[in-house]
Amino acid sequence: MKLLGIIGGMSWTSTAEYYRLLNEEVATRLGGLHSARLLLHSVDFAQIEAMQMAGQWDEAGALLADAARGLERAGAQGLLLATNTMHKVAPAIEAAAQLPLLHIADAAGRAIRAAGVSRVGLLATAFTMEQEFYKGRLARHGIETIVPGDAQRSEVHRVIYDELCRNVILPGSCGTYRRIMASLAERGAQGIILGCTEITLLVGQDDTPLPVFDTTRLHVEAAVDWMLDA
Ligand code: GLU
Repeated sequence: MKLLGIIGGMSWTSTAEYYRLLNEEVATRLGGLHSARLLLHSVDFAQIEAMQMAGQWDEAGALLADAARGLERAGAQGLLLATNTMHKVAPAIEAAAQLPLLHIADAAGRAIRAAGVSRVGLLATAFTMEQEFYKGRLARHGIETIVPGDAQRSEVHRVIYDELCRNVILPGSCGTYRRIMASLAERGAQGIILGCTEITLLVGQDDTPLPVFDTTRLHVEAAVDWMLDA
């Protein structure tokens, strides 16, 4: 099994989920007491969030590139960046280490195409919903992305930072996300991408009739394929 290097802590609530899912997936595939071989560099998310708000993406990229170099020195054979949003700085991470970066939007894009879906509604942070780095990567897989309207995007973003990243899971916010998914369906979405790694803590396949593409789970499955050469 290859040794996976994870850059996580963005936020810790989703990284904990990654850790559980990676181990479950390896155990399911190999059986017995098998578990995931991995290294984790978990950052202080307050520092990253301050850089995001200040638009200091180069600084954030440098910080994560440093983590990537450390994981490479420690023996990691590939990298997983456990957040959608920070894939905005994926090029800085890829330039810093001579290791493959298992890109989350490629894991999602492949699964969406395999399901025969070409138009998806994206729930994510404002950065991911509004900028091109993520939607553009999905477009390379032939996928058209639609995002909620202004007020709904603000609410999706607020719930991520004020609640999910602080391990606060509220039924009212689940209802809000359900309504937003319903309005994306009305606008022609054929599926929903949970394009933020914490959203799986709040909603899932039971909350919408559309097929749900959970980036945390899809990223884990792609990582385990790579770890096991599957
Ligand atoms: N984990 C989230 C994501 O997947 C948001 C936190 C962050 O900004 O990294 O986008």
